[in-house]
Amino acid sequence: MAVPKRKTSKARKAKRRTHFKLEVPGLSACPSCGALRKSHHVCPECGSYDGKEVVSKEA
Ligand SMILES: [Zn+2]
Repeated sequence: MAVPKRKTSKARKAKRRTHFKLEVPGLSACPSCGALRKSHHVCPECGSYDGKEVVSKEA
C-alpha cells in the first residue's frame, strides 16, 4: 500500500484548507423593502421579485 513519504506539516495543511470555508452565497438587498434576500429568489419579506412583481403575498 502506498504511504506518504513525508508528514504533512501544519503549515501545508493550513494552506490547503484556506479554500475550505463557510460562505453565505449570493445575499443581496431587496430593491423593494431592503431586506437581505438570496439573489434570483422571491423576497421572503415582501414577496416581490424583479421590481414590483408580487408573486406571493402574505396576509
Ligand atoms: Zn423585499
